[in-house]
Amino acid sequence: MIIKFREKTIQQDIDFLREYLCNFGFEVHETNGDAYTIFSIVGDTTRFDANSLYAFKFVETVVRIQEPYKKVSRKYKTTDTIVDIGGVKIGGNNVVIIGGPCAVESREQIDLIAGLVKTAGAKILRAGAYKPRTSPYSFQGLEQEGLILLSEIRKKYQFPIVSEILSATDIPLFLNSVDMIQVGARNMQNYALLKELGKIKLPILLKRGLSNTIEEWLMSAEYILSGGNDNVVLCERGIRTFELSTRSTLDISAIPVIKKLSHLPIIVDPSHASGSWEYVESLSKAAIAAGADGLLIEVHPDPEKALSDGQQSLKPERFAELVTHCRSIAEAINRTLK
Ligand code: PEP
Ligand code: MN
Repeated sequence: MIIKFREKTIQQDIDFLREYLCNFGFEVHETNGDAYTIFSIVGDTTRFDANSLYAFKFVETVVRIQEPYKKVSRKYKTTDTIVDIGGVKIGGNNVVIIGGPCAVESREQIDLIAGLVKTAGAKILRAGAYKPRTSPYSFQGLEQEGLILLSEIRKKYQFPIVSEILSATDIPLFLNSVDMIQVGARNMQNYALLKELGKIKLPILLKRGLSNTIEEWLMSAEYILSGGNDNVVLCERGIRTFELSTRSTLDISAIPVIKKLSHLPIIVDPSHASGSWEYVESLSKAAIAAGADGLLIEVHPDPEKALSDGQQSLKPERFAELVTHCRSIAEAINRTLK
């Protein structure tokens, strides 16, 4: 961290700040120019609020050198993290396809889709029992009954399951019925929920918030890792921009940026990013080519009748084609999509 004092700061203030910083355990190196004094701070500043230094009237600029996150950082752990979801490994050289409907709608619906996506090549089934809808009048999910149906399907098809949680009070229910818990975009900064998820060992799929920076997203992952749960997979699902042709704008650059900054795996959700079934395959291929560790894709046998997100759901045949095409892309970059 570098601190620049305002011009003509008196020696007493400089000495005061030196002592203040030394009390935090930092080493302070002072440089005196003609007009300015600069402090270079050495030490772990992860737990230090750099912005708080602006409260001192003689501080002009503070520049952080170290990232505000630690455990999610590639500097902390140089090797890729591989997360095991009921026997399916995300990370490393694998490319994993997760498929399923936006919501569990009935036993027949989830049973039919589970069989179809598994045959098409999905390794994990994703379906929402609790749905975070923009309108309180829209279908909110089957809730607890949806989780029961998912645990039946998990047994019947030997299919690992991921489903979205909305409230920390539901954690015990999820522990009994799923293999991975999804934190949706709207809850990425629900720190009370993230802290509770840090206390368990079940893998967490952490979606990027609708308008969040990569640093904020990694800080949310840091909440989970710092609590003791290292099993986090990140999911880029598009961000809000001025562009209205798609539901969100898929931030493809997030993939190489995350790979550089963090050891955590990153998958891509082209369904919510585009909001249209027509664009899902193109974005999927782009994501794999850019180095994503997997895809999360919405599939419905009858999208016109889907209770949520039918407009972006692929029919099973189209999903099967997508898996085949993505496999070729994965092979071209020497990765394995089984
Ligand atoms: C979902 O995955 O169904 C969902 C609601 O996604 P997001 O949180 O990315 O909007
Ligand atoms: Mn959805």
